[in-house]
Amino acid sequence: LPIIALENVSKSYASETKALQDVSLRILKGEFVFIVGSSGSGKSTLIKLMLKEVEPTIGKVYVNGKELTRLRRGQVPAFRRTLGIVFQDFRLLKDRTVFENVAFAQQVIGAGKHEILKKVPDILATVGLIEKAEAYPKELSGGEQQRVALARALVNRPSILLADEPTGNLDPKNSWEIMSLLEEINRNGTTVVIVTHNREIVDRMKKRVVTMKKGIVVSDEKKGGYSYEK
Ligand code: ADP
Ligand code: ADP
Repeated sequence: LPIIALENVSKSYASETKALQDVSLRILKGEFVFIVGSSGSGKSTLIKLMLKEVEPTIGKVYVNGKELTRLRRGQVPAFRRTLGIVFQDFRLLKDRTVFENVAFAQQVIGAGKHEILKKVPDILATVGLIEKAEAYPKELSGGEQQRVALARALVNRPSILLADEPTGNLDPKNSWEIMSLLEEINRNGTTVVIVTHNREIVDRMKKRVVTMKKGIVVSDEKKGGYSYEK
């Protein structure tokens, strides 16, 4: 059974832009998938549908066994907490330390002090930031900030990690570090879906690549490359 499925999904915004047209896509538990395509091809819309940030105009979206249009408003926060999300611009809380940024994700789900004191250092060790636990975001490099964001996304052990341009603000060295972490997380069983423009990474990692163009999936390759035309 797929952990994410879009069935004949079309999405039109109010402006009548057809952001997606009859897209069907299945992602199995444990897969590592890149989504590529030029700006405006529908990648963000795809991710937003998976998060139930937007609704399909036509078709169905299933995530973690749930058909998202059938989730009631009150169920949406709990649903989103089963997902880990990472953005290009990190989105850390500036007035909180690294430890507190990660702990915050645990507090939101009602984790106790004992659990937080065990899990936060564990995940900070995984991303290699244990010695920066008391630092504030502005004292960290971009790569370190993204590793904090990753730790925060992962501390509640989501079944799926969605990343929208996670290396968009990073230099090649830090980009590769983030990608190795994502690969490691995936090896441990988390399904990973990454929107990216990073050609070198996509070409070298030989993962599944879904290519979007003008709201359509134009290719979907098991060990693909970054090959869409601008
Ligand atoms: P991001 O890529 O940072 O997630 P958005 O998803 O908000 O940004 O926007 C993605 C694309 O959709 C951009 O090309 C943007 O210009 C376009 N867009 C966003 N909101 C609107 C809108 N209200 N009307 C028209 N286009 C929009
Ligand atoms: P990508 O992430 O590949 O850049 P998007 O999914 O953001 O593509 O956008 C796909 C199309 O939908 C674009 O034409 C964009 O302008 C349009 N779009 C995205 N968000 C909105 C919105 N909120 N309102 C109107 N149009 C939007």
